[in-house]
Amino acid sequence: MSTAYSERRTSHSWMESAVCRHVTDPGIFHDSVTEESALAVCAICPVIASCFAYIHDLVEFSGIAAGTVWRDGNHPRVPCASCPGTRCGTTG
Ligand code: SF4
Repeated sequence: MSTAYSERRTSHSWMESAVCRHVTDPGIFHDSVTEESALAVCAICPVIASCFAYIHDLVEFSGIAAGTVWRDGNHPRVPCASCPGTRCGTTG
């Protein structure tokens, strides 16, 4: 059973270094109009790899995180070799 993003968002130490913690309006990560602004925040974030792995394992997440747009549980296709996620259960 997956855990909702809001329930787990403060449970990892890497989140302390997340640039988005300092964004005045967190809503930019959940609005297609402000998508470019959110992606720009992720682009300078030092924990983007940890963020990607975390979000990739959340089946229900939609929004912008880890420099990626995630929509309706449809996770972006990424080359397996560079994907740190474990949700799909495949390798290579
Ligand atoms: S990569 Fe983006 S969404 Fe993830 S922690 Fe950093 S700023 Fe936040």
